[in-house]
Amino acid sequence: MTDRELKKENQISNETDGNKGVEPGLFDMHVHSSFSADSDTGLAEYAVRAGELKLKGLCFTEHADYNPGEEDYDFFSYQDFIISLKNLQDSLKKSNTELYLLKGIEYSEPHLYHRKFQELKEKSFDMIMAAVHWVKGGFVGDQEITAKYSPREIFSVYYDKLLKTAKFGGYDVLAHFDFPRRYLGAEAARGFARIESKILKVLIEQDIVLEVNTSPVRKAGLEPMPSARILSEYYRLGGRKVILGSDAHSLEELGRDLDQAYSLVQKIGLTAGYFKDRTFRPC
Ligand SMILES: [Zn+2]
Ligand SMILES: [Zn+2]
Repeated sequence: MTDRELKKENQISNETDGNKGVEPGLFDMHVHSSFSADSDTGLAEYAVRAGELKLKGLCFTEHADYNPGEEDYDFFSYQDFIISLKNLQDSLKKSNTELYLLKGIEYSEPHLYHRKFQELKEKSFDMIMAAVHWVKGGFVGDQEITAKYSPREIFSVYYDKLLKTAKFGGYDVLAHFDFPRRYLGAEAARGFARIESKILKVLIEQDIVLEVNTSPVRKAGLEPMPSARILSEYYRLGGRKVILGSDAHSLEELGRDLDQAYSLVQKIGLTAGYFKDRTFRPC
């Protein structure tokens, strides 16, 4: 390993202003704008920031939640999103700005809310990502859940749901594989190797790609999701393709720690890419 690689590997930063740029040519494939209920950053602001960071592109992956208990239940408006994005793409074209702006959604638990899922699948997206955020009637990281249930219980319910989501299929990417780790820590994620492999196999069979989500790096000083261990298992089982995402909800978060994720996946032998018209392309 070279000094530069070693330096990069040890670079787990928690500061909020340390994001000066990323490896040229990378895509941030997980970004929330004001078309998600939990972000108030506009599409155009992200485009400007992406240019400063020298990203090749980014994908807006707005929350599509149809769980009646979710605060953002049915918040996403496809029509408004598409019109705004098209306007922005047109203005970038006029100014000769080379930046891929991709349209996606992060759909929570399609196996439970399949009617709306089928409806949205018919629309024009570059990437459809599925995710699990809830266990036992609440958000994984909510205090009422973490206070009531042990980390082990939360993780095992989560993985059962993730397996169902994986089997349901019909989407391009599975988001943040070991999501509860961001709230429960690395120790809580141990002991689930069997179900992890089972889920990975189901994904690989259907050509569903893993997202490498960097949010735990800045939020908890932890490695990206999934962990290097799970990514290595994915590789061992035949998985090769990944996308990289910061899960940004604000401008400062755009592109954060993508370099770290990129060197990690390269080391394992995985190919980082992006989706355009629902087809994977290497970066
Ligand atoms: Zn998510
Ligand atoms: Zn997200």
